Amino acid sequence: MNRKARFGSVGLMSIQAAQRLVARDQSPGSQDQLSDFASSAGTQTAPARNAWTGETADPGRVTPASGARAAASQDADPGRVTPMMAQYIEIKAANPDCLLFYRMGDFYELFFDDAEIASRALGIVLTKRGKHQGTDIPMCGVPIERADDYLQRLIALGHRVAVCEQTEDPAEAKKRGAKSVVRRDVVRLVTPGTITEDRLLDPARANLFLAVARRRISDTEWRYGLAAVDISTGRFTLSDTDAAGLSAEIARLDPREIVVPDAIHDDPPLRQLFAETRAAVTPLAREGLDPASAERRLKEYFGVATLDAFGAFDRAELAAAGSALFYVEKTQLDSRPILQPPTRETTTGTLAIDAATRANLELTRTLSGERSGSLLATIDCTVTPGGARLLAERLAGPLTDVAAIRRRQDAVAYLVEASDLRERVRSTLRQTPDLARALSRLGLGRGGPRDLAALRDGLFAARDCALALTLSPDLPPDLGLAAEALRAVDTGVAASLAEALADELPLLKRDGGFIRAGFNAELDEARELQQDSRRFIAALQGRYAAETGCRTLRVKHNHMIGYYVEVPQATGEDLLKPPFKDIFVHRQTMAGAMRFSTVELGELEAKIASAADRALRIELGLFDDMTERLLRASPEIAACAEALAAIDVTAALAELAARLDWMRPRVDESLAFRIEGGRHPVVEAALKGSGTPFIANDSDLSGQDAGRILLVTGPNMGGKSTYLRQNALIVVLAQMGAYVPARSAHIGVVDRLFSRVGAADDLARGRSTFMVEMVETAAILNQATARSLVILDEIGRGTATFDGLSIAWAAIEHLHDVNRARALFATHFHELTVLADRLPRLANATLKVTEWNGEVVFLHEVVPGAADRSYGLQVARLAGLPTAVIERARTILSELERTDREKPKRAMVEDLPLFAVPARVEPPKPAPPARDRLREALDALDPDELTPREALEALYRLKAVPSV
Ligand code: ADP
Repeated sequence: MNRKARFGSVGLMSIQAAQRLVARDQSPGSQDQLSDFASSAGTQTAPARNAWTGETADPGRVTPASGARAAASQDADPGRVTPMMAQYIEIKAANPDCLLFYRMGDFYELFFDDAEIASRALGIVLTKRGKHQGTDIPMCGVPIERADDYLQRLIALGHRVAVCEQTEDPAEAKKRGAKSVVRRDVVRLVTPGTITEDRLLDPARANLFLAVARRRISDTEWRYGLAAVDISTGRFTLSDTDAAGLSAEIARLDPREIVVPDAIHDDPPLRQLFAETRAAVTPLAREGLDPASAERRLKEYFGVATLDAFGAFDRAELAAAGSALFYVEKTQLDSRPILQPPTRETTTGTLAIDAATRANLELTRTLSGERSGSLLATIDCTVTPGGARLLAERLAGPLTDVAAIRRRQDAVAYLVEASDLRERVRSTLRQTPDLARALSRLGLGRGGPRDLAALRDGLFAARDCALALTLSPDLPPDLGLAAEALRAVDTGVAASLAEALADELPLLKRDGGFIRAGFNAELDEARELQQDSRRFIAALQGRYAAETGCRTLRVKHNHMIGYYVEVPQATGEDLLKPPFKDIFVHRQTMAGAMRFSTVELGELEAKIASAADRALRIELGLFDDMTERLLRASPEIAACAEALAAIDVTAALAELAARLDWMRPRVDESLAFRIEGGRHPVVEAALKGSGTPFIANDSDLSGQDAGRILLVTGPNMGGKSTYLRQNALIVVLAQMGAYVPARSAHIGVVDRLFSRVGAADDLARGRSTFMVEMVETAAILNQATARSLVILDEIGRGTATFDGLSIAWAAIEHLHDVNRARALFATHFHELTVLADRLPRLANATLKVTEWNGEVVFLHEVVPGAADRSYGLQVARLAGLPTAVIERARTILSELERTDREKPKRAMVEDLPLFAVPARVEPPKPAPPARDRLREALDALDPDELTPREALEALYRLKAVPSV
């Protein structure tokens, strides 16, 4: 590797580290000296709060997993640690699961184990500073202005970070005594699911965390409530599901983090389920919350007396919502994100797609986990981050409500036709920044001047969009509603932002300079004072140069000694003597130069600093005013951001349809599935680059009260998988309200989509290909209904031929007779094609192939009928298997085929019972009880009516009754 570069950067880091140690020791911003961290006298500080549980930590109770904690537990005498060390240890002990970013001056420092972990993870230099109990304290640090980058890397690696800030002015601490430590506290926990910084977020992806709660509904069954919160946009949705649907629901939401109470976290099957998601899993020490306190928490958060207006929630949903708010409070501490009131998403309203199907169809990411190459990446023509997120959300959760699907289609159709309006809206939207995330940062007090500018630009874009839409006649309802939401925002606030904000904006408000000159008279005055002082300094430099006769005299500035005069060594020697001695005070001697301060410079410096302070105070005041004004309008702005995203998605789908010649599918309540000229959007896009045309194919699985099954055979590489998947993707597109890649499509709405495509070992989960295949097939055969669409590709391939064939055979019969679903079944077991004679709703189709000069040519055309053979040897030859192997295989094959002819499979089919799979295997009815003559004879007797003699005779008669 590049050794030089590596050594170079190490060298650089150590210089920086050294510089900052010096700087810190003199920094006016931090009263704490690093030496205080490890010197030996001190006092105790106030106990630190645990950000997860709210409990107060006792440093004596800390466990030894971290160096800091170990140090604390070994330290029987807290008097031996410095005050700052005691403070650090307490805060660290209160947040043991997090890396602690401990603010010191312009750096976040990490100590002990945290330092070692972070230095390894971030590739930054580990230094040592001071000793604790005779051992060096490992330390590393990150500068404040680069903290976001480092945070991003740590979060991506699965760490959590507790950010500990100075919570008082060092001057205040000084008032308590020279040895007192600046107060610090954790102000925020940074976790994967709660980040808000633009640089840490993927603009095209929601950043959800999911709180999960459950309630028992029987001895063996639970109902799960899920609360999904995106702090970066304020989205807050609830849903509920049974255990079987939990994994699909998590896959639909695709959270970055899952927050679960310990009881759920420790449940082995659930633990496995969570581990299979890509999300970080955070156990919550306390059991979520009972529904009553969850309800109270919700009411408090949203300032409402009753939750009725939000809709009716299940108890598990309420508990999950409570947990979610609990987690928001625990990670954001004193900040309160703007959340929209929770809305309920019903699982019955969306097309159910389990995690395996989602992965197989590569809806939002490919099997290898990338967005590029997925259906989402192929169809994404959105131009705003909010639009990209909404498109991903709609693709992940297509609808089942025909009316709602049609409303979305109407909106797309309108913009397909109105191409001028579409272009106008899209070009306006292109200028639109991420309104929702900027608003959220402002709400959390983490906003900067650029967030204000984002709102200014976003609100103006909203106004322009609204105008363009309003001028268009006969808007369909979805676009009409969106336009209304856009109009509801008062653009007055955007106009005042435009007046106030400068053209060039700093990232951080504390850098100042973001208010336009001429906007505020007081600010202009303070700035002029700064300017004047600078001119005065230039004049002073000229005067000093003239007086000392040194033309190279310069007035300079640094953070350590402020303004100073710098002269060459020789002049410096003169300045140490009268008459200059009284004016110039020696500060530093450098190599070849000397530095002096003067009273005049000191006074000027104070004046400049106070003018700068005043200017910044005024700017910050104006920032707060503008933020407050925006936050007052936050519900309207949030609704406006949502409307802009919806318009962007609609226009993007229209653009896609127009560009690629996609058609509006007919979606209704029937069990139709008729597609003419269907294409696979991703394969087609990939082929376009190579100039190869994609061959469109029809399919018809329509039925009256049950769907048809198409059994597809054909050689490898013929296009079976492509054909199967394209039909599934067309359903997803149609039900999300988009146009589809086909000449025409008629789809009776699908309730569940299942796909078992390809074979992949899942060794990470300890399952073989075959096990995975069977688990997924079981899920399909147990859950598919007549309204479902099932795609099965090469089932039974992972085991011995007869095993596999038998399983595939039985699975088809089950699908046909029991599930009655619309299905596509690709197989290399040609034996199965004879089932078409038996099963009335099963038909054969094959991928057309031709041979040319002994080579196989794939035509990728689906035609009725069965493949005559596999062409396996031809494909093997194409793949480059040695000729000797091919020839030997040919001999073996003809021998196998000869034996097979003597025992044809058709005969076996005929031997099998006709209906191998009964529709539902009914348990045998209990047989009627046999007649019991003895009982009848006994019942006929009434002992109270019998004389002793009659009783004796009756007894003899009973003895004579034959037993049954
Ligand atoms: P199989 O499942 O039969 O082995 P695939 O569906 O994986 O075959 O297709 C193999 C390759 O053939 C694809 O990667 C694609 O390049 C090409 N292909 C498949 N279907 C078509 C089609 N309809 N038109 C053009 N090329 C296709």
